[in-house]
Amino acid sequence: MSPADPYVYQARELVEPDWTRFPAWRQVTTAEWESVQWQRAHCVKTIGQLRAVLGDGINERFYADLERDQAERATMSMLMPPQMVNTMVPGVAPNDPQATEALYADPVRRYMLPVFPDRRIDRPSHPYATRDSLHEQDMWVAEGLTHRYPTKVLAELLPTCPQYCGHCTRMDLVGNSTPQVIKLRFGAKPVDRYDAMIDYLRRSPGVRDVVVSGGDVANMPFTNLERFLERLLEIDNIRDIRLATKALMGLPQHWLQAEVRAGMERLGATARDRGVQIAIHTHVNHANSVTPLVAKATRAMLDTGIRDVRNQGVLMAGVNADASQLLDLCFALTDRTGILPYYFYMCDMIPFSEHWRVSVAEAQRLQHALMGYLPGFATPRIVCDVPFVGKRWVHQLADYDREHGISYWTKNYRTSIERDDLEALTRTYAYYDPIHTLPTEGQRWWERQTAPDSRRQQVAAEQAARASRQAATAQASS
Ligand code: SF4
Repeated sequence: MSPADPYVYQARELVEPDWTRFPAWRQVTTAEWESVQWQRAHCVKTIGQLRAVLGDGINERFYADLERDQAERATMSMLMPPQMVNTMVPGVAPNDPQATEALYADPVRRYMLPVFPDRRIDRPSHPYATRDSLHEQDMWVAEGLTHRYPTKVLAELLPTCPQYCGHCTRMDLVGNSTPQVIKLRFGAKPVDRYDAMIDYLRRSPGVRDVVVSGGDVANMPFTNLERFLERLLEIDNIRDIRLATKALMGLPQHWLQAEVRAGMERLGATARDRGVQIAIHTHVNHANSVTPLVAKATRAMLDTGIRDVRNQGVLMAGVNADASQLLDLCFALTDRTGILPYYFYMCDMIPFSEHWRVSVAEAQRLQHALMGYLPGFATPRIVCDVPFVGKRWVHQLADYDREHGISYWTKNYRTSIERDDLEALTRTYAYYDPIHTLPTEGQRWWERQTAPDSRRQQVAAEQAARASRQAATAQASS
């Protein structure tokens, strides 16, 4: 008998998990569930609210672990619409004897509701983890407008979302402060920031692509979002507009509102007249989150005439860093919703993220494992967002020191902070694997490094790692 392929495709119907399994939502009607006002009014923001939703079935140990994480580790505060809560342990009622362990193991819980034992005890943060790990603020050309690539910019319109993800890359700015992280706040009023962004784009004919983000654009009053997008559409050089909203999955009720659909139709019509492509980029990390309401909201958006809806997930250990889980998600998206699997980002080097991060080698292995099952156009790229470089496919590295877990990357353009840097295109830029994934000698080497606090020390550490590797190679060949 010939061996089976590693993945066997099975077409699956989408199912909206039964929310009445939660004691607090036993009487909630379908009309209430599908109302965005009801969803927003019943978001879970505190441990007390979570207890009220789950009832008495969950062990106290879970709440103690959650409380400790919020006090000592969390970079994001708790915020989950009922729609998201309902995708955790979908087949288990909270009073089931298995519910506590199922909740600990649940992939959606593991990134939306982190608990202390999830994190690494030995080294919860990489020594080079930083709050703004992609240095987006360094590249602001107006407050909240990051110009990091030659032809495209990121416009952070607002610092809030309908849901807060534990691993958020913009943890420096997005959401409420936590005991560990006092959030940065925009200084200027929104209206002045938007004016400055539009002014920059009018003066920058080389920019053709704007990612309109935050936060999540679903938290912006739609009339304000529409006005900003109309102004973008008036700029001749803007050809692509991408709206970033995890809420298409986390709060699909928002995008199903009649006034939002009508507004998107107006924008779609204007974009078509002007030859501009508007797309929605959403953020789904696990197949359990893909429900009939998500499919309905996506269909509603595609029916407005926008160009596409694409998914940018985040690759995380314990959540989805497994080929079968990734393929299940991609097939759920592409078969049942019309959302195009587009990217999986490696989890960025923010504080307390080591338990989620995987090595570049593991990301390369996963990319290989995905190939050939999905249509080529729907096969996602796994990308590493390399600080000071930008997104790179995980096989694009220039060099890789696996013992020390340092990959080296090059770039082919200057960012807004490197205009006069003659070596920007010839130097290599480092990215670091989680230390617990390294061979023993590599882990020992990191233990010997002093905690670095500057770019100069970071470069010195990279040079020391290279010297150590060259010495080992020379010794082996002598
Ligand atoms: S939706 Fe996006 S911006 Fe908002 S918390 Fe999650 S990852 Fe961060």
